[in-house]
Amino acid sequence: MLTEKLFGMISLGCDKNRVDTEKLLGLLKERGCTLTDDLSKAQIVIVNTCAFLLSSRAEAIETVLECADYKRGNLEKIVVTGCLPQKFIGELFSPLQEADVFLGISDYDRIFEALELAYATGRRVDFVGKGQDQYRSSRILTTDEHYAYLKIADGCYNHCTYCLIPKIRGKYRSYPMEALLKEAEELGEIAELIVVAQDTTRYGEDLYGENKLVELLQKLSALENIQTIRLLYCYPEVITDALIDEIARNAKILKYLDIPLQHSENRVLKLMNRKGTRESYLALLEKLRARIPEIAIRSTFISGFPTETEEDFEQMKAFLEEAQLFNCGFFAYSREPDTGAYKMKPQVHHATKKRRVKALYAVQEKISRKRLLGLVGKQIEVLCDGIDYEKNCFVGRAYFNAPDIDGKVYFNAREAVQGERYPVWVERADSYDLYGKTEDYLE
Ligand code: SF4
Repeated sequence: MLTEKLFGMISLGCDKNRVDTEKLLGLLKERGCTLTDDLSKAQIVIVNTCAFLLSSRAEAIETVLECADYKRGNLEKIVVTGCLPQKFIGELFSPLQEADVFLGISDYDRIFEALELAYATGRRVDFVGKGQDQYRSSRILTTDEHYAYLKIADGCYNHCTYCLIPKIRGKYRSYPMEALLKEAEELGEIAELIVVAQDTTRYGEDLYGENKLVELLQKLSALENIQTIRLLYCYPEVITDALIDEIARNAKILKYLDIPLQHSENRVLKLMNRKGTRESYLALLEKLRARIPEIAIRSTFISGFPTETEEDFEQMKAFLEEAQLFNCGFFAYSREPDTGAYKMKPQVHHATKKRRVKALYAVQEKISRKRLLGLVGKQIEVLCDGIDYEKNCFVGRAYFNAPDIDGKVYFNAREAVQGERYPVWVERADSYDLYGKTEDYLE
């Protein structure tokens, strides 16, 4: 009986994948399975993989191989799910002997059938692409319980030339609004709901024939159990005036926006198949700041895209100075087979990419430090995430800090509870983090 087995789970990759993992855990729990955090005790381990980049595929394979060591103990079967088998099953099936079951991104519901077959036959089972794309709402959170991600769509149809996602996850598919509202309601009391998708801003276009993100945000913010909402992965060209107005007027939406810009130079943006330009990006930032003066804008950039010159790179640094973004992630371009950019020439040397990424971080670090130093002596509201045992104080986040990707606020207080908000006096700042105390804290 599969329900008598102990299941372990490893989730790799992004927060969208994390939501898939949480739904798979929800499915296991619904069927009465027992879950364990201790992989050495698990009889079945599921590895939910990412395959976005070469490095993520390597990490996924390494993780499966590491899990195989547990087969000397209690482990009986390894299930490999998610993006890696979805895209690369042909290449994995023979060499990855340690895996017993492969499931694609639409095959989670067939996990029991696949495992039963694997146990009954002793053979490896490939169920990739044999299931139906099904929306599930029940989840087991893997984040601290005061915040949660809400994935509102899967897939993408932007077809940026460096990106494998549309080939792995398929075309953009919005989840029905009613189902998302139910899912959000069932999460219980949530201090911060983080709305995600490959491209959050396209919500509804495929399903309803028109953009429905604003309506979804209005309905989500009407839910009593949701205290605040954070938006990630907003495609710049789809940030409409209606969306900006909603962020400005809706008290529950944090004045924070993640807008992956990817590059600043028009020639490179065009090769990337991005629709914006340096000018349109700067105009968007200006518009956002005019309407929402306190808005914190985060972005991500790729450096070393094929054909990127030293001049492009210098211009990107100048763009960062001009844009004065709150926080940025910089990534060296990864040459992915089966993408448009794979064959573009010339490719940029690995060492050059590394150098440029490092230099871009250095520019942004100065911008970030200056901005954070400007907060010293001021009081800010901080959502307590818990205790940092290394620093021996509480740790939390202001509205300009998304979990895992931005900085943190470390603070002393007589008492602070996870999931509650506190006014914190900022005493000190470094490049990415703030340090302070609550009013009632006595040294
Ligand atoms: S918007 Fe571009 S980078 Fe983002 S998932 Fe879609 S194709 Fe990939």
